[in-house]
Amino acid sequence: MYSLLRHTGSILWKRRPIQLTFFVTRKCNARCPFCFYLYSAGKPEKRTEELSLNEIQKISLSMGKLLWVAFSGGEIYLRKDLVEISRVFFDQNKPSIMLYPTNGLLPELIRDKTKQILRNCNKSVIVVKLSVDGLNGTHDSLRNTPGGFAKVMETYRLLGRLLDKYPNFELGINTLFCSANQDKMDEIIDFVKDLEDIKTHTISMVRGNLLDPHYKEVDYRKYDHAIDRLEDNLKNKTSNIYRFRGARLKAAQDILQRRMIHQTLVAQKRLIPCYAGKLNLVLTESGEVYPCEILATSLGNIRDHDYDMKRIIRSKRSRPIIQSILDGRCYCTHECYYITNILFNPRLYPALAKKYCRLVSAHPGRVAVSPFRPKNKPLLAHNQNRLFKPLTAVLQSFKLLISRTFFNIYKGLE
Ligand code: SF4
Repeated sequence: MYSLLRHTGSILWKRRPIQLTFFVTRKCNARCPFCFYLYSAGKPEKRTEELSLNEIQKISLSMGKLLWVAFSGGEIYLRKDLVEISRVFFDQNKPSIMLYPTNGLLPELIRDKTKQILRNCNKSVIVVKLSVDGLNGTHDSLRNTPGGFAKVMETYRLLGRLLDKYPNFELGINTLFCSANQDKMDEIIDFVKDLEDIKTHTISMVRGNLLDPHYKEVDYRKYDHAIDRLEDNLKNKTSNIYRFRGARLKAAQDILQRRMIHQTLVAQKRLIPCYAGKLNLVLTESGEVYPCEILATSLGNIRDHDYDMKRIIRSKRSRPIIQSILDGRCYCTHECYYITNILFNPRLYPALAKKYCRLVSAHPGRVAVSPFRPKNKPLLAHNQNRLFKPLTAVLQSFKLLISRTFFNIYKGLE
């Protein structure tokens, strides 16, 4: 499996992007009113033709090793060559994680393509996230998709059967938090925690420019209540966590991230540095490159830069945009960026370690079934004093992290 630790050098040097969000298509079989892509759908774009596989190959080749590729859309499974695109990134960028969010409306197609991706990309963790924004009719009316909830559940059943066969597979649910479902969060959280095959339940705060901005009129106290519930479920072990090595660190980061998002909403300003444009990039289906999904200022079109991401990042146009992000001139609550903004910011490690310790003590000696860790090797030895277990686990992780960082420094000096 492609180790997550290959990217520890980026904790010190944020020299090149290690995360790419790629909007593979604008096509969608739903019309969710809170979709920010719907807002921009009516706007004229210089070019609308989707990047071809050949073009994607060249772009991927210019990016080097990646930690994480997140596909987005539109409905990503409507892109006919999604399997081939995944293969390109797997072969050329060796991402540790590839993320596939889907509205789940095409059960068989999603199952078949996911199966092929799992087979082809067996050294990456493949995460499929199904959207569930309410139960039954609430989900359907929120997303304007009659019968949609039943289809998502069918997709869940079909994908759940792949978990045993493919240890690199992770299945999760994401719920958009907006004004229309903020009072339904308790029932959604209770429902999802009882779905045995769901390894993670995340909540995304509604974001971007919407056709109907009233969806953004959320009550922050209700968000706070929902994230409390998710944290409690993790601590009292009533909800699952991912199976891959480092999953508890990811769960701890999720908890910290949600707290910081809440604080950001209350403060209405950026509270931590953002590495968008440095560690993260967004590529649209027509080749526009952005530092993140929120800022509307494009760094340029990759077709005008010989399909070379390095050229775009170093261009005259990009430098002031990336500098303004470093200067803290914007803020948002977008979860994807909090992941890198937390994991690659050493100043947040004490807070992260605290959340991690609490989780480790809640899940002591849990044996991972993922090939990231040998089957019969628990994270902690059972004969260790219970008091020292969390501390030992954190020290082990940090020891590994520090030794890897020094290795990267040494390599950089060579
Ligand atoms: S803070 Fe948000 S809007 Fe600003 S660059 Fe980072 S991700 Fe984009």
